[in-house]
Amino acid sequence: MNIHEYQGKALLKSFGAPVAEGVPVFKASEAEAAAQALPGPLYVVKSQIHAGGRGKGKFKELGADAKGGVRLAKSVAEVVANANEMLGHTLVTKQTGPAGKQVNRLYIEDGADIERELYLSILVDRSVGRIAFVVSTEGGMDIEGVAHDTPEKIITVAIDPEKGVTAEDVKALNDALKLDGDAARDGGTLFPILYKAFVEKDMSLLEVNPLIVMKDGHLRVLDAKVSFDNNALFRHPDVLELRDTSEEDEKEIEASKYDLAYVALDGNIGCMVNGAGLAMATMDIIKLYGAEPANFLDVGGGASKEKVTAAFKIITRDPAVKGILINIFGGIMKCDIIAEGVIAAVKEVGLKVPLVVRLEGTNAELGKKIINDSGLNVVSADDLDDAAKKIVAAVKG
Ligand code: ADP
Ligand code: MG
Repeated sequence: MNIHEYQGKALLKSFGAPVAEGVPVFKASEAEAAAQALPGPLYVVKSQIHAGGRGKGKFKELGADAKGGVRLAKSVAEVVANANEMLGHTLVTKQTGPAGKQVNRLYIEDGADIERELYLSILVDRSVGRIAFVVSTEGGMDIEGVAHDTPEKIITVAIDPEKGVTAEDVKALNDALKLDGDAARDGGTLFPILYKAFVEKDMSLLEVNPLIVMKDGHLRVLDAKVSFDNNALFRHPDVLELRDTSEEDEKEIEASKYDLAYVALDGNIGCMVNGAGLAMATMDIIKLYGAEPANFLDVGGGASKEKVTAAFKIITRDPAVKGILINIFGGIMKCDIIAEGVIAAVKEVGLKVPLVVRLEGTNAELGKKIINDSGLNVVSADDLDDAAKKIVAAVKG
């Protein structure tokens, strides 16, 4: 689960991290009071969407020379003018995809005097089985470019879970970020604070880009992207309250109600598979034969007929889906349950696109019989390769 920048900053502030003063705004009429509550004379009006790259983003409905999704303002009046222009409009960034995201919230923040922009993130580094800091002196708006062109400028410091952030870790991070004086002392308090927040709140990613050194020599968290481990949300009701479902894919919200592992993608072949590994392989083989999957979907091990029905409905609801591939290797999951779920769903919502089904394993014969007897227009496949070829051919017409 992701949260907005202003929520992430409030959370980090509660752990003691240095963030600027700011006020979230939901309606343009709130912008004036928000700006007046800040010291000035420099303000920043920041679009709150669950995607990065806002500064370099473009508003769809505004002209090509309109400013981006993060704007400096030099007076309360300028804050208000920008808020009026930004709210309700669609911001397209490198991370939103071409459809963009509607800006429904703004964050009006105190402007900082920036000396340097650094990059800092904390993540779970699976290669070493530890939480790690990833830092670079080249922070700001193009860290992807830095990673691509000069990867040596990105430094990883893994943290020993028994010890937490040690003095050596602080030194390594300060050196990597070329911090000294007040900034290095700030680092000594900030790095352990961020690590503590990450661990205590079960985050999966904490990205501060940029972390800035201000003209006065102190550090400040200027942007915050926070993602949480969904599997641990049950123990963080305070975090769950920050959820903004308007930022999430409707189909993914529906899937989460049924405890389905579903991720919407850009292709046109809907996939219903059991097991994450088989789901990945199914997506790969669709690509191998020249098409693109519309989703990742793992119905899980012991799925009920209701769950399968819900999954099928979620797939067919996506207007981009031009064909569906069901690939089940029945183990704990029985093929006849899948067949019954699919038929129940088709009875409710109809079937307007080609459907290829590959059933193998427990009760495969029974499952095939149920589908054949149903009178549904289903193409059956012998194996994964055959199934992928058939659905790609059907979709390409
Ligand atoms: P994004 O990463 O989505 O583009 P950021 O919050 O990182 O959004 O903002 C983009 C840039 O805007 C920053 O790199 C920084 O240069 C500038 N900026 C953001 N917030 C402030 C602020 N409070 N004061 C001064 N400049 C800011
Ligand atoms: Mg940023």
